[in-house]
Amino acid sequence: MKNQKKLTPALKQYLDLKEKFKDAILMFRMGDFYEMFFEDAKVAAKELEIALTSRPFGKNSAKVPMCGVPYHAVENYITKLVKKGYKVAICEQLEEPKPGKKVVDRDVVRVITPGTYFEDETEDRFLMAIYPFKGNYCVAWCELGTGDYLFTTVNKKELLSILSKFKPREIIIPNTSSIHSLIKEALPHASIVEREPCLFSEKETVIDAENKGEVKAISALSEFVKETQKEFIPKLKTPRKYTGNRYVYIDPQTQKNLELIEPAFGDNDKASLFGVLNRTKTGMGRRLLKFWILHPLRDIKEIQKRLNAVEELTKNYETLEKLSSTLSRIYDLERLLSKITSGIANPREIAALRNSLSILPQLFQEMSQLSSTLFSEIKNDFDDLYDIYCEIERVLVENPPTSPKEGGLIKEGVNEELDELRKLKSQAESIIREIEERERQRTGISSLKVGYNNVFGYYIEVSRPNLHLIPEDYIRKQTLVNAERFITPELKEFEEKILSAQERIEKIEYELFSNLRQFITDNAHRIMKTAEKVALIDVLQSLAAVAVERDYTKPEVKESFSIYIEEGKHPVLEKFLEEDFIPNTTALTPESYILIVTGPNMGGKSVFLRQTALITLMAQIGSFVPAQKAKIGIVDRIFSRIGAADNLSKGLSTFMMEMVETANILKNATENSLIILDEIGRGTSTYDGMSIARAVVEYISEKLSAKTLFATHYHELTELEGTVKGIKNFHVSVEEINGRIVFTHKVLPGASEKSYGVHVAELAGLPKEVIKRAKEILSSLEEKTDYLPLFQNIPTYSETTEFENEMVERLLEELESIEISTTTPLEALMILSKLKEIA
Ligand code: ADP
Repeated sequence: MKNQKKLTPALKQYLDLKEKFKDAILMFRMGDFYEMFFEDAKVAAKELEIALTSRPFGKNSAKVPMCGVPYHAVENYITKLVKKGYKVAICEQLEEPKPGKKVVDRDVVRVITPGTYFEDETEDRFLMAIYPFKGNYCVAWCELGTGDYLFTTVNKKELLSILSKFKPREIIIPNTSSIHSLIKEALPHASIVEREPCLFSEKETVIDAENKGEVKAISALSEFVKETQKEFIPKLKTPRKYTGNRYVYIDPQTQKNLELIEPAFGDNDKASLFGVLNRTKTGMGRRLLKFWILHPLRDIKEIQKRLNAVEELTKNYETLEKLSSTLSRIYDLERLLSKITSGIANPREIAALRNSLSILPQLFQEMSQLSSTLFSEIKNDFDDLYDIYCEIERVLVENPPTSPKEGGLIKEGVNEELDELRKLKSQAESIIREIEERERQRTGISSLKVGYNNVFGYYIEVSRPNLHLIPEDYIRKQTLVNAERFITPELKEFEEKILSAQERIEKIEYELFSNLRQFITDNAHRIMKTAEKVALIDVLQSLAAVAVERDYTKPEVKESFSIYIEEGKHPVLEKFLEEDFIPNTTALTPESYILIVTGPNMGGKSVFLRQTALITLMAQIGSFVPAQKAKIGIVDRIFSRIGAADNLSKGLSTFMMEMVETANILKNATENSLIILDEIGRGTSTYDGMSIARAVVEYISEKLSAKTLFATHYHELTELEGTVKGIKNFHVSVEEINGRIVFTHKVLPGASEKSYGVHVAELAGLPKEVIKRAKEILSSLEEKTDYLPLFQNIPTYSETTEFENEMVERLLEELESIEISTTTPLEALMILSKLKEIA
């Protein structure tokens, strides 16, 4: 705006503030509304679906676009904007409007950003700062809503894993850093804040930070919180070092493939490992369970401690039930605490804290029978916070109102002056009735009334026909249709006393409330500590409840190479599948540690692979597992490569992705890792794919000796059993029952029938001639290309002519694309003639 002189003072004030908060939508408090102007108004009107208007502000000023939202509903609007990635600067009036002053003082009291909107209870609202340091990344991240605060130093690969596990909404990086695109790729929706590197200072002193970089990241994070939250900063936990090497390494792809937290497809959001294991009753329990699932342990003692605690609960069913019902009465202590310590909590939230605290002694008592190591640790110096409960109970009424400023929240007997003032107020009514009666007597007007309204205060109302009776000392205040209203000096004096009493009551109550809030804030660390124990009890209770209900088994975890899962089931499928789930056994030993699994599409290969990985992972979380028996040699990393088949149409980029992922696995897996590979090499031509698949298997066998499950269409790979170390063949079986093909989903030793495709076609009832011809084609293909001992004789590839190569490829492509189950006999014949044409 060029011509600022002509603008109203309020709009000038707005423009000055807007200058300071250019990248945020400025919500400007004007009376009962938050107004937005100019561009902000246009954006907000569109995003919030509210009316955009315009009016001039000042003489000759052009019309200014504006829109507004009522103050009492502002949270919904803020939520909408922040969810869409906007920042919102909240500007409040800092004083009551005063006569003679043109414009009230206003200032921005808080900037709400995607990473700092802590009162919105969406999970995982992490704010992160990343500082590149000596070839690594120093990372600090926190959740203002729960007080969680972590930091660490990692390499790029680990950074990606952290990003995918914590999914920060907002990330602060130095504006000189090249990681911008890396983050954009990993988390397209995260909002990135670039800062001058000098703002990554070393102000914060953190006792166990390992290097300067970590201190810088922590400082940048804390500074950003201060800068945006200003007066409303929740108390955070002491920053804790995130020690990645305590946990099984899971890369982002594997987290997704195994559907640990959310399903990859479909809309049943319970269809994930988290969905199945989550029986937690509290917010903090739910968060801890998520953390556990994403961070299975490597330390056998720690795992056993958890398993024993879960076992103890499964054996004490009564205690388990009691604990879970008691826990369900405890609110999210951490979120409540954030609101209280930041000063935004209302009296109801403090009452919720009080109610939750009141339950803690009972929770403690219910654990009295439990003696496993972990429960002993929980019980050891368990702080039931009884004194904090007592203090809130002493001060706060049972059901306080939401506003802390309108009184009615502090109990009788807490403050003498308050009690006096309340007494005075409660007598007001009878005093008024006395005055009324006396004035009636004095004037002889029997319909005379004493009333009250917000504008004029107390008044005496006399109806029109009686006006001639009023005494001298009545002062006229207001004229109505049928009556007039008056005041008297006596009434005015009384009014002042009552009103000032009310004002004073509200002030005292607010003061006492603030003291209570401060008292809780001073004890925040104690509450946090207990909240963590409650979370732990909740997760153990959850795992035990699932174990009992789904009849899981306690796995035996060992410091050994082998994994043996007898009659294992896929934890998610076995729960949601309509038919019975067919259990399967997995045995990975030093002799056979690479299982090549063949068999037709839809036979159950992927499920078998995933269930092996999931059961291993569950055991290392400390959960019981869906199996008859499980002996799990602890793994250090779990890798997976899954599903190129579904993306075949995407062509080269998919293949490239697949190879990048495979490369990543081969580079990072160790002898103690578990690898599951589903259909690798499918994104390219058959020869290429097969060669790569085999080379990968050989590499794993020779160089890595990692436990591996490999599902493949390349039947040729089954030839490797006996030649390549560690390989053992399995197949998913197919049966014919009453002339119909049935996938039995049973995983059996040995390779599948070589021509299972044709076999399935046969079972499906393709005409005999077609089957016969297909078999001929198949064997001629095999002869021509000679790829049966292909791998002992690699040069064969180049021996075949280019023309033949192309022909074979086209044939194979055609064969692969046949959807046997939906092909009619006529179509089959047409396909056959097409095949003949190619040959
Ligand atoms: P593949 O990888 O061999 O193509 P999947 O593993 O994807 O096959 O399994 C296909 C479908 O078969 C699954 O979605 C599931 O419905 C069913 N299925 C697989 N394994 C089992 C099993 N063990 N018990 C029951 N149904 C199964």
